[in-house]
Amino acid sequence: MSKLVIFTAPSGAGKTTIVRHLLDRFDNLAFSVSATTRARRPHEQHGRDYYFLSPEEFMQRVKNGDFLEWEEVYPGQYYGTLRQEVERLWKEGKDVIFDIDVKGAWKLKQAYPDRSLAVFVMPPSKEALLQRLRDRHTEDEESLRKRMARASAELEWAPRFDVVLVNDRLEDALQQAEQLVSEFLQRPPRPIPVADPA
Ligand code: ADP
Ligand code: 5GP
Repeated sequence: MSKLVIFTAPSGAGKTTIVRHLLDRFDNLAFSVSATTRARRPHEQHGRDYYFLSPEEFMQRVKNGDFLEWEEVYPGQYYGTLRQEVERLWKEGKDVIFDIDVKGAWKLKQAYPDRSLAVFVMPPSKEALLQRLRDRHTEDEESLRKRMARASAELEWAPRFDVVLVNDRLEDALQQAEQLVSEFLQRPPRPIPVADPA
């Protein structure tokens, strides 16, 4: 049975960096490419990083019931996990890795409790988070403000997940992530309890 490896955190904590590393390390892991209405960053590719949709296309797909989960992560910016994307990867026998926001991660964890690992990536501090976002040079001031405004609330979600992985020194975080995922992928899925016949 295919498994779900879910990475979540405030924007800038290091999810994408860690997820890319894990994809290099584990042959059977495949990335769930999400749909989004946000603008494409210069290095991003449609179909590899995201499926970039117009707000109208996104809402049509919401109406069609095409999403396993979706969220308005920032005001006016929608993100969602396409059912078709995940089912396609499962048919190929892949384990699927997700890089999604805390609410989406929580929904997926609840939908697949017995075969998912949900990891919250914790930045060493809010100051470090802001610095990383600035140094990434992908966000304008308005986008930085939106992301930092949401970060405090997102940090409070950390205890809900299976593991909190502190991303301070990147080398350490990558090693810990590898260890966690390796153990999880080797473990048999938790057995579904048998109903009591009495
Ligand atoms: P997210 O996907 O959570 O938004 P990224 O993986 O894009 O975060 O990381 C945000 C920025 O911080 C990137 O420029 C990345 O290279 C950098 N970064 C990631 N981890 C660390 C770390 N441990 N120390 C310093 N910089 C980091
Ligand atoms: P970014 O714009 O930096 O790529 O992503 C912003 C936030 O949206 C991140 O927290 C990212 O994990 C989240 N996100 C990306 N894809 C999805 C998705 O399919 N569903 C949800 N709920 N959040 C997503």
